[in-house]
Amino acid sequence: MTLKIGVIGTGAIGREHIRRITNNLSGGRITAVTDVNQEAAKAVVEQFGLDAVVYPDDRTLIASEQVDAILVTSWGPAHQASVMAGIEAAKYVFCEKPLATTAEGCRSIVDAEIKFGRRLVQVGFMRRYDNGYIQLKEAIDSNYIGEPLMIRCAHRNPSVDEGYTTDMAITDTLIHEIDVLHWLINDDYSSVQVTYPKKTRHASSHLRDPQLVTLETAKGIVISAEIFVNCKYGYDIQCEVIGEEGIVKLPEVASITYRKEAKLGVHLLMDWKQRFLDAYDRELQDFIDSIRKHGQPQGPTSWDGYIAAVTADACVKAQESGHRETIVFGEKPELYRDYEVSFH
Ligand code: NAD
Repeated sequence: MTLKIGVIGTGAIGREHIRRITNNLSGGRITAVTDVNQEAAKAVVEQFGLDAVVYPDDRTLIASEQVDAILVTSWGPAHQASVMAGIEAAKYVFCEKPLATTAEGCRSIVDAEIKFGRRLVQVGFMRRYDNGYIQLKEAIDSNYIGEPLMIRCAHRNPSVDEGYTTDMAITDTLIHEIDVLHWLINDDYSSVQVTYPKKTRHASSHLRDPQLVTLETAKGIVISAEIFVNCKYGYDIQCEVIGEEGIVKLPEVASITYRKEAKLGVHLLMDWKQRFLDAYDRELQDFIDSIRKHGQPQGPTSWDGYIAAVTADACVKAQESGHRETIVFGEKPELYRDYEVSFH
């Protein structure tokens, strides 16, 4: 059967996902769309030539028999209500990050899913579907570098808007590292400290940039994560895992080398949207495939959304206090224990 998908929020990433499901992926079809900006929803149907109904709001879209699964791509504060309504209606849910804007909100989604008794929700943490991270995970899981001891990573953007604030370095930027790193090393975060190096003159007056986040895990791994969102030179994601027997590192983005004006070099990306294009395709294809084959999604779970929210809260607290802050999740519920990404 083709999975009938309803999209809630037809902004930038909503349109991107509609485009990939319609043009690139298999097994899914957009049958319904809604947006608080109804004109935007109608324009999307036209733009992609969709055979889809425009609904006035998320509730009516979710109730439609023409919808098996919803794609929640509205603004962050609207996610929780749509996801909860999706679970109540027993619809599959793909929710862009954040799952909810508070840890309590994420926990209530986890509880609703547990009550339902089966996984319905996948969170859009796409880095787990990036080829480089998959290779790192395979090396770690196969013990190729022995026990991981340390991770050094960096998340650098050339520049950010004036509206970007110090806490967004955690909630909008580091959030992807927060998700992918605990998955990579099969471990839980236990504490975090944030320090601020000398500030770049390219940051706006209200923004602390760069920042150094030091996360410790339950097994004692220390992660040093640099966030530098006015680095000027490019969009650059680095990750190096140092183990007892060796080191593994994310590959550089493939690019031709050039020889020009007495220089030998490669070009770097400037636009973050280009960096994980394949991963976005793969996360949605996996969502569609695992529902069609196994009756439930197998990507990042509601529990992962909750872990990200709790960790981000502790990071923001550590930004403000300057102290080491502890991170406590409680026990992982049974429903999420056996989960493994199926595609590799
Ligand atoms: P956007 O502002 O371009 O689009 C959001 C759309 O949602 C708008 O059209 C808005 O009118 C609509 N909307 C808002 N509230 C709604 C509601 N209650 N019901 C229906 N529609 C509603 O934003 P965007 O850049 O597309 O981001 C959307 C979400 O995706 C954000 O949560 C963002 O964090 C996330 N995102 C994730 C990634 C990623 O790398 N995984 C990348 C970009 C965006």
